[in-house]
Amino acid sequence: MQTVFDADVDPGLVERSLAASTFGSMWLDIPRPGYPQATGSIICDLLVVGGGYAGLWTALHAARRNPDRRIVLIEANRIGWAASGRNGGFVDASLTHGLENGKTRWPNEIDTLEAMGTENLDGMQADIESLGLDAEWQRTGMLSVATEPHQVDWLADGAAKGNGKLLGPREVRDEVHSPTYLSGLYSPDTCAIVHPAKLALELARACREAGVCIYEHTNAHGMNSAGVALACPEPEAGCMALLNTRAGGLPRHAATLSRRHLGVADAPVRYVIVIVPPLVPPPVLAGLAPDELRTPWSGGGFRAWT
Ligand SMILES: Cc1cc2nc3c(=O)[nH]c(=O)nc-3n(C[C@H](O)[C@H](O)[C@H](O)COP(=O)(O)OP(=O)(O)OC[C@H]3O[C@@H](n4cnc5c(N)ncnc54)[C@H](O)[C@@H]3O)c2cc1C
Repeated sequence: MQTVFDADVDPGLVERSLAASTFGSMWLDIPRPGYPQATGSIICDLLVVGGGYAGLWTALHAARRNPDRRIVLIEANRIGWAASGRNGGFVDASLTHGLENGKTRWPNEIDTLEAMGTENLDGMQADIESLGLDAEWQRTGMLSVATEPHQVDWLADGAAKGNGKLLGPREVRDEVHSPTYLSGLYSPDTCAIVHPAKLALELARACREAGVCIYEHTNAHGMNSAGVALACPEPEAGCMALLNTRAGGLPRHAATLSRRHLGVADAPVRYVIVIVPPLVPPPVLAGLAPDELRTPWSGGGFRAWT
C-alpha cells in the first residue's frame, strides 16, 4: 500500500532543498540568561544534576516545599541545552506514548496510567499558570486524522470508547483543509503545545526566584559518600558538592538525573523535525497540502511537521 508519505523523492532535490538549512535548535536561538560556573566547592542540602525539565522541575518543587534549605542545580552545559530545549513541543497526557500502546503493554494498569497522565498534564499547566511562566503554553487538544480507510474504523472505535469526538470528512476538513483526511477524532483535553526552550528557561527563572542556586558549565563527574565531584576550572582543587549532614536537614541526597552520568547509552533519535517557513513549503514537501505540514498523523508512526 502506498501513502502520500511513500512517494519517491529525487535525492538531488532533497540536497538542494536543504542546502540553505542549518542544524540546531530553532527554539534555543533566543536570548538566554547565563548562570555562573561553580569555581569552588559547594555545600547544599540537595544537589540536582542536570538543567533539563526533570532537574528543573525537581529543584523547583523541592525549593517550594523546603524554602529554608539550600538547593543547588548544576548543569554541564547550558540550561535546557539538551532534549528539553530541542524537542517538538507536544505535551501529550499519555505516559505510554499513546493509549493503544499502553493497553498492549500494561493492560491491567492502563486506567491508572491514563489518570496519572491527565493529572500530570493538569499539574504542569497549574504550575505554569500559578508561576506565570511565559512558555507559550496552549491547551490545544489533539486532532488525530485518518488518511486511510481502515483508520476511519480505528477513530470511530476510539470515539465509541469516549476518547474524543468523531469528525466526519467535512468536519475534519473544516479544521484542517486537506483532501487526504477521511475522518478525525478530536480530544480537547489530552494535549498541549509549548515553546520547549522557553519552558526550560522560565523554569530556571522560577527556580532562582524560589531560592535555587544554579550553576552552568559545571559537570558532575563522580559521586562518593562525601558528595559529588565537580569539574571546576582548577580540578586539582578537588572541587566537590558536599551534602549537608546537619541535624534536621533533608536526608543526604543527590538527585542524579542524567542518563549519561549513569552510563546509560543514548537512544537513537526516532524522528527528525523539519522546520520550514509557513505556507511556503520547499519543493521537497511540495507534494503535501500546506495544512499537512502541521498535523500529527494517526498512521503506524508519528510524524510532526511543525
Ligand atoms: C528531537 C526530540 C524531540 C522530542 N519531542 C518531544 C515532544 O514533542 N514531546 C515530548 O513530551 N517529549 C519530546 N521529546 C523528549 C523530551 O524532550 C525529553 O523527554 C525531556 O526533555 C527530557 O528531559 P530531561 O531533563 O530528562 O533530560 P535533558 O533535557 O536531556 O536534560 C539533561 C541535562 O543534564 C545535563 N547533564 C548530563 N550529564 C551531566 C553531568 N554529569 N553533570 C551536569 N549536568 C549533566 C545535560 O547537559 C542536560 O542539559 C523529544 C526529544 C527529542 C530529542
